[in-house]
Amino acid sequence: MVRQQYTLPELPYEYSALEPVISAETMRLHHGTHHAAYVKGANSALELLERSRTSEHDVDVSAVLRSLSFNVNGHVLHDIFWKSMRAPQKRNKPSAMLEKIFDETFGCFDDFISEFKHAALKVEGSGWAVLSKDPDNGILITQVEKHTVNHIAGYTPVLTLDVWEHAYYLDYRSDRGAYIDAWWDVVNWDFVEQRLTGNS
Ligand code: MN
Repeated sequence: MVRQQYTLPELPYEYSALEPVISAETMRLHHGTHHAAYVKGANSALELLERSRTSEHDVDVSAVLRSLSFNVNGHVLHDIFWKSMRAPQKRNKPSAMLEKIFDETFGCFDDFISEFKHAALKVEGSGWAVLSKDPDNGILITQVEKHTVNHIAGYTPVLTLDVWEHAYYLDYRSDRGAYIDAWWDVVNWDFVEQRLTGNS
């Protein structure tokens, strides 16, 4: 059976929809170039694996599997990232139900915000801050370096923040903290709630 290829998902909004928090230019490059490259890389890795089964062609399987993990995780984390956002809203807040979960886990919503920001600021090099659901339906803030390092098997990402330089340098230069602070205005809390409650 031929495995289905990965495809670049269309964004649920225009490239300019997140302005002024994230510029159209950043979105065009990020989605159209970077995310597209991860999709291409994932498909190339699958093709190489297929070739290693069907020919004498010598394939470095470890390298291919490393590439597959990097590119598939990049694809999935970006897909969630795009859906985690929508046009900026003033006083953008989660629902009362979601806020209750944050209160129970982190003390209060503001404590969640500051713990998440800390995780995002402290990613060494390129990576992500991720709000995840654990197998017992608890929530936890995790950090992923690159697209793969520190990922915990069985944890489901419900909200992802890309802090690779390509995600914010055009708009915020080296000020990652300003990018994180502005980002809360575009978070799509309805999507986060659907992911947490299993409806997305
Ligand atoms: Mn990215």
